[in-house]
Amino acid sequence: MNAIRIDGKAIAEILRARVAWEVAVLQEECDVTPGLAVVLVGKDPASSVYVKTKTRQAEAVGLKSQQYVLPSSVTETELLTLIEALNLDESIDGILVQLPLPGHIDRLRVLEAIDPAKDVDGFHPYNVGRLAAGCPALAPCTPLGVVHLIKTVVSDLNGLDVIVIGRSNIVGKPLAILLGDAGCTVTGAQLQTRNLPELCRRADIVVAAAGCAGLVRGEWLKPGAIVIDVGINRAIDSTGVTKLVGDVAFAEASKRASYITPVPGGVGPMTVAYLLANTVNAAISRRGLSLVTDRDAASGQPASEMRGVRWIC
Ligand code: NAD
Repeated sequence: MNAIRIDGKAIAEILRARVAWEVAVLQEECDVTPGLAVVLVGKDPASSVYVKTKTRQAEAVGLKSQQYVLPSSVTETELLTLIEALNLDESIDGILVQLPLPGHIDRLRVLEAIDPAKDVDGFHPYNVGRLAAGCPALAPCTPLGVVHLIKTVVSDLNGLDVIVIGRSNIVGKPLAILLGDAGCTVTGAQLQTRNLPELCRRADIVVAAAGCAGLVRGEWLKPGAIVIDVGINRAIDSTGVTKLVGDVAFAEASKRASYITPVPGGVGPMTVAYLLANTVNAAISRRGLSLVTDRDAASGQPASEMRGVRWIC
């Protein structure tokens, strides 16, 4: 079997087109341009690249985008003061503080300072709790992207066995909730899990989000499994070139899986696209308009799906 690649780049492009359309409708019918503020502390090269990508794509879909680059010496109080100002700024609908933060800043205190209605990363405990309780919430972008990718290749998730490897607050835990809500039987694995290969072999869908290059081997997979690789790891290839690789041994896994996401070009683009979608959702719900919840269905024909969608201003 040779797995079909799930093209996250192309699917994210469709989602961004839909978000751009929604922004245009909001502008035209409600005179609202959703605003996204991205805050970067320090000069971590990977974080700088992520922030640049997020800002560029936000502008491309028509969002108002503001970037705040603070020195790594910034105090926690100064950062909290900026967040408070952004909370009060009516033109800002989404606030994202790029992680990781320098060690002298309390990450949880910063995340809790963000107005939950503007928490487009979905990391505020208020949104985490609402998601767990099955209430409408701003959910984290990467898990939303993973569920969207899965739904492009399997329409009915009811009863499927899924293993999510990794249980971080930003990926594994919220993803397990979303997949459980979608009807899957979810096994959550982490570093301490015993018999990981055996658990994987039982799964219809394997999601790897451990941050461990090549962890999931081909022989761990049930033939025909769907494999979603969230991991982003730097590895040096045989020619000495540094490459990005996932948590899945891609070549081996491709021989057993039915569908597989590549790294790069799989989950990563979806994460950024959902940040834009969450910003529009925040803009809509903060103004008491109706929340768009059916983006998961955007599977190639966004124009026809979007027909008839209108918001009451
Ligand atoms: P994290 O370090 O916070 O959590 C890792 C989790 O994986 C932990 O629960 C840990 O117990 C588990 N784990 C680690 N090694 C394991 C092993 N050998 N076996 C089983 N479980 C193991 O990481 P994170 O922030 O959740 O990120 C995970 C990976 O996903 C990283 O590579 C990160 O770069 C990547 N990531 C990608 C995106 C994207 O948009 N593609 C977004 C977020 C994170």
